[in-house]
Amino acid sequence: MSTDYTSLVVVVSGPGGVGKSTIVEKLVARDTQLWLSRSWTTRERRQGEALDAYNFVSRKDFEDNIASGGFLEWTDFLGNYYGTPTPNPPKGRDTVLEIEVDGAQQVKRINVRALLLFVLPPSRQEQKARLRGRGDPDPKVEKRLRKAEEEEPVGRAIADYVIVNDDLDSTVEEMSRIIAYERKQRTAS
Ligand code: ADP
Ligand code: 5GP
Repeated sequence: MSTDYTSLVVVVSGPGGVGKSTIVEKLVARDTQLWLSRSWTTRERRQGEALDAYNFVSRKDFEDNIASGGFLEWTDFLGNYYGTPTPNPPKGRDTVLEIEVDGAQQVKRINVRALLLFVLPPSRQEQKARLRGRGDPDPKVEKRLRKAEEEEPVGRAIADYVIVNDDLDSTVEEMSRIIAYERKQRTAS
């Protein structure tokens, strides 16, 4: 009997404002085996947003990193670049990526065993309220809602699991259970 463990890549994706960052923060806080990748972005930091929410960089630095092959995946999302630097998790840890749908597709293409958890809001109305509640200005809210219409069918098609983030604690619980189950599948017996 062997207990070899193939580490997991968990991709959390879904439309803006659905609650991905909030969920991932809670998942990582309760599960020390998870290692959260920090993305790069060229967008401005939001008021009140943590300094280390992203590696905030210039377009030049981002493009230089593309040229030197430093990203696992990257995309242009509503006029800004976002990208996952080549992951380097500590040994034995599982990597978590919190990214939009185009990036999730790229990761699935590179790594068919990546676990894609696609998160949806209970309704478009609730998504709008969450984006506003977070302080996104109205034009940005509208853009993100329109983008969500494009993202949803693609996300559903490539997802391993689709989760509706209604009650936050239940969502985190459900995702923890899925991760535990998928870990068992990856432990050779
Ligand atoms: P995303 O990372 O998907 O863009 P955020 O994590 O920034 O979304 O969440 C957007 C807003 O919605 C935040 O203000 C967050 O506190 C709130 N939120 C997240 N999950 C829930 C939930 N289940 N119920 C109510 N509000 C939520
Ligand atoms: P926000 O501006 O709301 O922080 O992020 C906008 C979108 O970009 C969200 O859907 C977020 O998940 C996604 N995102 C964050 N980091 C990355 C990344 O490294 N790669 C990709 N493809 N998307 C990302």
